Amino acid sequence: MPKKSAAGNRKKFLTDQHKALVELKNKLIAESDAELRAEREANKDEGMDAYDLASEERDREINFILSDRERAKSQQIDDALARMAEGSYGICDSCGLEIAEERLRALPFTRMCRDCQQDQEREARTQRRYDDGRTYRKLGSTDADEETQ
Ligand SMILES: [Zn+2]
Repeated sequence: MPKKSAAGNRKKFLTDQHKALVELKNKLIAESDAELRAEREANKDEGMDAYDLASEERDREINFILSDRERAKSQQIDDALARMAEGSYGICDSCGLEIAEERLRALPFTRMCRDCQQDQEREARTQRRYDDGRTYRKLGSTDADEETQ
C-alpha cells in the first residue's frame, strides 16, 4: 500500500513523541526528587553533628551540579514541548524539511535533520582545519535561547 496517510502517521508520531517527552520530564523530576531525598536520608543516618562543615559544603556542591545538569535537560524538554505546541517540532531548523522519525525517536531534542547535521559537522571540521586557533562556529548556536553574554 502506498503511504497515502503520511500526514496522519506523522500526527500520531508527534503525539507519541509528546507523550514520551512528558514522561521523560516526569521521570527527571521524580529522579532528582529521589536523589535529593536519598542524600538527605544518608545525612540523617550519620547524624548531623557528626558532619563537619567541609563535607556539608561538598554535598551542597554535588546538589548544585546535579540540579544544574537536570535543569538543563528539563529545559531541553520544555523547549521541545514548546516547539510541539507551535508546530515547529520535528522540522529541520536548517532546511525546513521534516526530520525522520527514527532520528527523532533516538534524539528527541534534535532541531536538525541528519543531512544538515552532517553538513554542519563537516563545515565545523573544515573551519577548524583552516583557522585552527580561532574556533569560530558559524552555524549551529544561532538559537535565541543561547544568550550567554
Ligand atoms: Zn535539514
